[in-house]
Amino acid sequence: MRVSLVQYTPEPEKVVAAAARLCYSSDPVPELLEQLDDEMMGNFVRKLRDMGHLSPFEHVSFQFSIDGVSRSLSHQLVRHRIASYSQRSQRYVKENGFEFVTPLSIGRNPEALARFEAVMARLQEDYQELLNYVPAEDARYVLPNACTTSLMATFNARSLLNFFEHRTCSRAQWEIRAMAETMLRLVREVAPNLFSEAGPTCRTQGVCHQGAYSCGRLKTLEGKKK
Ligand SMILES: Cc1cc2nc3c(=O)[nH]c(=O)nc-3n(C[C@H](O)[C@H](O)[C@H](O)COP(=O)(O)OP(=O)(O)OC[C@H]3O[C@@H](n4cnc5c(N)ncnc54)[C@H](O)[C@@H]3O)c2cc1C
Repeated sequence: MRVSLVQYTPEPEKVVAAAARLCYSSDPVPELLEQLDDEMMGNFVRKLRDMGHLSPFEHVSFQFSIDGVSRSLSHQLVRHRIASYSQRSQRYVKENGFEFVTPLSIGRNPEALARFEAVMARLQEDYQELLNYVPAEDARYVLPNACTTSLMATFNARSLLNFFEHRTCSRAQWEIRAMAETMLRLVREVAPNLFSEAGPTCRTQGVCHQGAYSCGRLKTLEGKKK
């Protein structure tokens, strides 16, 4: 899996703080941007976040390049509707000798791994064979979820907070969770105030919404506080 932050709105925290200040000021945005120093900006952003006044977070966006993830992951990712995606097409790009993601549970079980690799080899062969008879858009029907893909994804900061809440939770599936954790690390480096409190609700709000499926981490966190 390769995940990188390709680009993002310059000075994202300043933009969010200026957007919020505009609501309470007669000054136009360029002047508000000039008036903001680092301390004011940090205080503003944290206050907005704590109040749940998150619409100013929508003015800044972050663009990620994602490679070498499975189609199983991308299917989950694009369920996050408040984002924009471009994904390598299996209609226009042939998946000759496709690469695939091997889950750890399969990789560490010799019998499962042998079976898995045999299936992948067979599918690669069958896919190749089908291309002799039908277009790639139809041959792709035999491709597995494990097949790797590439995407570009652009999220605004508010949508990213929602994404991190759901996908860094230990209930999230391991592959998308690993990707979400990398994305969170990347955006924290460039916008620490926006994302310092991003993550699963057990950590950020002291609550867990997973009911019977809860991993129990909230209890551990509460125990540490005592
Ligand atoms: C652990 C886990 C397990 C999951 N299991 C399943 C599963 O078994 N089956 C399944 O189908 N999905 C499953 N999902 C996907 C999940 O249901 C969501 O589709 C996905 O997490 C996207 O979340 P979202 O809608 O909040 O994000 P976005 O689509 O980015 O939306 C962000 C927010 O915008 C608002 N919003 C967006 N669109 C609308 C709308 N049309 N109407 C009203 N408000 C809107 C909502 O407040 C929403 O939270 C799972 C997700 C997780 C994290």
